[in-house]
Amino acid sequence: MGIASVNPATGEILKTFTPLTSEELAAKLALAEATFQQYRRTAMSERGQWLRQAADILERDQVALATTMTLEMGKPIKSAIAEVLKCALVCRFYADNAAGYLEDVPITTDASRSFVRYQPLGVILAVMPWNFPLWQVFRFAAPALMAGNVGLLKHASNVPQSALAVARILLEAGFPEGAFQTLLIGADRVSDLINDERVKAATLTGSEPAGISLAAAAGKQIKKVVLELGGSDPFIVLDSADIEAAAATAVTARLLNNGQTCIAAKRFIVMETVADQFEQLLVAKFQALKVGDPLDETVDIGPLATVSIVSEIAAQVEKTVAMGGKVLVGGQRLEGKGNFYLPTILTDIPAGSPGEKEEFFGPVALLFRVKNIEEAIALANDSPFGLGSSAWTNNPAEIERLITEIEAGCVFINGMVKSDPRLPFGGIKRSGFGRELSVEGIREFVNVKTVWIK
Ligand code: NDP
Repeated sequence: MGIASVNPATGEILKTFTPLTSEELAAKLALAEATFQQYRRTAMSERGQWLRQAADILERDQVALATTMTLEMGKPIKSAIAEVLKCALVCRFYADNAAGYLEDVPITTDASRSFVRYQPLGVILAVMPWNFPLWQVFRFAAPALMAGNVGLLKHASNVPQSALAVARILLEAGFPEGAFQTLLIGADRVSDLINDERVKAATLTGSEPAGISLAAAAGKQIKKVVLELGGSDPFIVLDSADIEAAAATAVTARLLNNGQTCIAAKRFIVMETVADQFEQLLVAKFQALKVGDPLDETVDIGPLATVSIVSEIAAQVEKTVAMGGKVLVGGQRLEGKGNFYLPTILTDIPAGSPGEKEEFFGPVALLFRVKNIEEAIALANDSPFGLGSSAWTNNPAEIERLITEIEAGCVFINGMVKSDPRLPFGGIKRSGFGRELSVEGIREFVNVKTVWIK
């Protein structure tokens, strides 16, 4: 399909785009590099002012921006509006905090004065996915721009209008023209960008194959990379937990964004003693959800973003069921137009089936029963991924153990995993490396310069 907006609720092609020519791409790279030489000298206060202005624009245009996202990738409109507002939040957060995060850090040594200074690296490439078309970009752009870097965005090919909107917002906010540019190009041109000596580092959020490809290209050029890839997050429920609260949160934790979230809870690992109760509550809640037109504010679940995503989730469910898995609710596509898949719960997941080890990037919950906390932690860690994790218990000793023993980039106790500008975000194992957000996020793309004065 190339670079195009296709409404996933109807299959209608809304708009197609011609990829940049080699000359156009070269001009954008040159502009980025030239802009960096000026932009790196702008005051932090000025960058902060532009970012606050961007936040105001996001709030002003929230309905139009949210509608663009919903039409391009199918997220329910109320989530789309929340996403736009979260982008405004991250802009204001870094406008307020970047100076503090990047100020010189004095360190006492044998020098008369020694300290660490954080300086921008230059042009940073961001390769971004379609699932949070604005948020994924702003959580990169806000810290990168505050640190004095300039950004180039290669967004997913199915969200070009969202991609163009980001560059437009930042330009209107006051940032110089080359400080943040959208490149309408296919994935096959990313390695050329990495090979360009003006591009100093890159970040990618998306699938494992894309991450491997980008990291391999960057490795050959000795360039820094941050990777935020897939996850199959555990959601552990132990017997002292508030089961009603756990089940209510489980629905959102699994189905937010039509289930297409890297940090969605995907594997529900429940202690046998409370498993029947949890299962009944979850099934009832899944059955009550409204599936349909994502522009309708009363709809909970819209279509999946692309035809291939819905085909893949259907194939994963079919294979798991063919191997002995049991469908408690859903388990099929919705008849008619659009990429709709019914909210689904699978249990009795067989060993060796997709349900055991693969990421399910759609509205499918995988339910596992365990005897005790040992089994729960072992199962949670028996995954190639290590992004987020959520665990439910009211026992202080269990809480300590879960925090220490779960192999993941974050542990949320009695709550769902969510990104928050104040907290670092990222994974371990095959979920990637590096961190976004918070102080760790803004220090990923800087030169940590040691200064020693006799
Ligand atoms: P991709 O990883 O293919 O797409 C993400 C971004 O990477 C897009 O901009 C894409 O561009 C680009 N890309 C793809 N291949 C390469 C490559 N070889 N080199 C450089 N850039 C590349 O994700 P999909 O849309 O195919 O989704 C498939 C799976 O990815 C999902 O099922 C899920 O597991 C995972 N995913 C994870 C996300 C997360 O938040 N961690 C988000 C989205 C997907 P283009 O669109 O032009 O191909």
